[in-house]
Amino acid sequence: MKCSETIKGNKVKQRLREVLDEIGTELQKERLRGKVADYIPPLAQVDPAKFGMAVMLHDGTLISAGDAAEKFSVQSISKVFALTLALGKRGDAIWHRVGREPSGDPFNSSILLELEKGIPRNPFINAGAIVIADILLSSHQPRETIGEIVRFVQSVSEDDDIFIDEFVARAEDHTGFNNAALANLLKAHKNLDNAPPHVLGVYHHQCALAMSCEQLARAGLFLSASGCNPLSGHRIISVERARRINALMMTCGHYDGSGDFAFRVGVPAKSGVGGGILAVVPGIASVAVWSPGLNQHGNSMLGTRALEMLCRQMNWSVFG
Ligand code: GLN
Repeated sequence: MKCSETIKGNKVKQRLREVLDEIGTELQKERLRGKVADYIPPLAQVDPAKFGMAVMLHDGTLISAGDAAEKFSVQSISKVFALTLALGKRGDAIWHRVGREPSGDPFNSSILLELEKGIPRNPFINAGAIVIADILLSSHQPRETIGEIVRFVQSVSEDDDIFIDEFVARAEDHTGFNNAALANLLKAHKNLDNAPPHVLGVYHHQCALAMSCEQLARAGLFLSASGCNPLSGHRIISVERARRINALMMTCGHYDGSGDFAFRVGVPAKSGVGGGILAVVPGIASVAVWSPGLNQHGNSMLGTRALEMLCRQMNWSVFG
């Protein structure tokens, strides 16, 4: 590496440090923070004042702010890792069972599922993620599949301290009537191989993964580095597959708020109702943000603002 490159790299890191501090300070003061998910007690009890953000660069530099080391429920962000794992197992055959179009509907909607004969629009709405969970389950026991998902996330994060929050998983199972309706509809349309309760067990457990922004930023690094772990050079998925997952995050990662997110932030990202967002800046960095209050689409209100500020300040966008 040339000396001038090191100086340039150091300047970027210094600028990032300043930008994250600015974002943290500004958003910590914000009073309008959205509404914390309240469909299960463990999420309803989360303090809406929490705010964390972490950026990991390809050389492994981690720059974080606020509550970036505190674990939260990743919820639908887990769909990115489940999809990656399912593509690794079955390849493009999965696209016979799930589409690749934005739905323009809320994450838990069943309207299109009936109209479109049990083929969910994409793997990031709940119906699509339930099909992916079914693919991962194949003929295994739910416990083995859940273990496989956790181990995969631990391996891409290079961090063993990642677990499922059993309280969240149990609460999801007890209240997941809408997801049960989706699973039963999928089964009725012959797009579920396994018993709905088993598939839902897997899906609800993957949603209950607890991770910090720092761990999530590390876990998403391979998607920003063309499918490789940029630190070890180890390939996790092909370049093409990484591009396609990023394309789906861009078009479907925020449900019926995906267009607005692309317009405001301009990089692929996936949200979860726990208030987290994982964003990918191809060739540069992986970013995770957490603010529990949600907007009307179920996406983190201040998390989106934070990413908008970060990408604008750093001049990051996939749109040129
Ligand atoms: N566990 C939630 C559900 O299944 C996940 C939804 C989300 O994060 N958008 O409804």
